[in-house]
Amino acid sequence: MDHRTQQRVEEMRSSLSSLGVAITRRRAKMLEILASTDRHPSANELHAEVRRWYPSTSLATVYNTIDLLKEAGQILELEFSASANRYDGRRPASHPHLVCISCQSIEDMDDPHDPGARALDRLSHATGYRLVRQRTDYYGICPACQLQEYDTTTPPAPDASLTPQPASSGKASFP
Ligand SMILES: [Zn+2]
Ligand SMILES: [Zn+2]
Repeated sequence: MDHRTQQRVEEMRSSLSSLGVAITRRRAKMLEILASTDRHPSANELHAEVRRWYPSTSLATVYNTIDLLKEAGQILELEFSASANRYDGRRPASHPHLVCISCQSIEDMDDPHDPGARALDRLSHATGYRLVRQRTDYYGICPACQLQEYDTTTPPAPDASLTPQPASSGKASFP
């Protein structure tokens, strides 16, 4: 476990403990998984991962732990209306994401120009709102999916109707 993962696990643990939540071994494993991945897993993916160690873990247990982490402010939930919610246990504060519309991968995006936590304060002053979170997603095709598209599709044949035929024009034509 790298230093940052360890640090996140400790933060999650102590926040849950202060809510009176018992840290069972399978719960500890969930924290470790969440703290170590930047893939923004769904609850189902998290479930599949924790079951590699504790096969009898139910999906309800996974959701229950997610709910507790949300209550403790130790996980960021990314809601999607068209697909499963995804979770970021490494960075529980709001931050922008890159979402691939082809393979559904989600990456953190660190844009120096993006508002972030500091700008929330500034915007709170400007708008009079007590702003608590901010959500920015950028949708596109990830580099891996672009490569795959490139590999599997042949370039379209030129449309004859759009291509002037030089044969009768008297100009030199290419062999
Ligand atoms: Zn992709
Ligand atoms: Zn994230």
